[in-house]
Amino acid sequence: MASRVLGTALFRSGFTVQDAPKYGAERRGAPIFSTVRAARGASEGETINERGIIHRPDLVVVADDTLLAIPAAGTLQGIDPDTVVLVNSRESADTWRHRLNLQGELLILPAGSEVEDRADLPHIGATCAGAAACLLGVIEPEALTTAIDEELGPLGEEAVAENRENASAAFEAMIAHRGIVTEGAAVPAKDYEPPAWVELPVDDASIAAPDIRAAANSVQVRTGLWRTLRPVIDYDLCGKCWWVCSTFCPDSAIAVEGDKPVIDYDHCKGCMVCVGICPPHAIGSIPEYLAQQREQQTIEEGEADGTDPADR
Ligand code: SF4
Ligand code: SF4
Repeated sequence: MASRVLGTALFRSGFTVQDAPKYGAERRGAPIFSTVRAARGASEGETINERGIIHRPDLVVVADDTLLAIPAAGTLQGIDPDTVVLVNSRESADTWRHRLNLQGELLILPAGSEVEDRADLPHIGATCAGAAACLLGVIEPEALTTAIDEELGPLGEEAVAENRENASAAFEAMIAHRGIVTEGAAVPAKDYEPPAWVELPVDDASIAAPDIRAAANSVQVRTGLWRTLRPVIDYDLCGKCWWVCSTFCPDSAIAVEGDKPVIDYDHCKGCMVCVGICPPHAIGSIPEYLAQQREQQTIEEGEADGTDPADR
């Protein structure tokens, strides 16, 4: 919602815009992010041809500061000393600057009051959009409220009024820093590495498209194919507190064999919850394509010297 409001506000301010959410692994509580990319020159018909995620952000808004402690969430991926980082937090900018060892500008968007249950946290999409709009310095408050009217109108007058108020308050809270975000240098398309081709295994139709009305067949659906990051347990670091990772895994993809946690990669969606909660940080993450390349290499080496890959 924040990215839609910000994108529409930029569009209403004369920019060509793209905004896109990425929900990651399909589960409640997994990190989500969305991006907004804007180019001047809409009136001259300028288009944005880049379609992927943003690799070098000029502004990062962190709506939930607990994500900063989880490397797998990639919250600060691609930032450089020119990137402005805005964190919704109850802690100070100095505290976060010190913790993250950041060279660039870090600002705090003061978070609301404590809640006992995180489910009771207020929606802060409009707040983030309002603060970002002010920091960009190219959006007038009127364009922001128009964007909220357009995007949230279907939710009713009460929702629109509340979000208008939140966005305006955040805009005002950032007024001392208005326009602090600078436009990053243009990156020629030829400087991007094209992504590698990913082979997806093809399942038999009876497995790939199970009858959704039949009972107890979810185990046949290999949701592990959705994974882009693979959690890997380092058993040398593992403290065998299996009730932690096996309980928190939202897909019940961590079984316990003896006293040892074992990940079921056919059904692990790669949400990275286990990486975040493992007390001794015994679970790391590697890109799925890299994990598959290594597996393939192990199989080929096994075939070459006649050993069973499982023994290697
Ligand atoms: S939570 Fe971490 S340390 Fe505990 S059993 Fe799971 S992998 Fe091992
Ligand atoms: S094993 Fe870890 S990454 Fe995989 S689904 Fe469970 S919590 Fe998520």
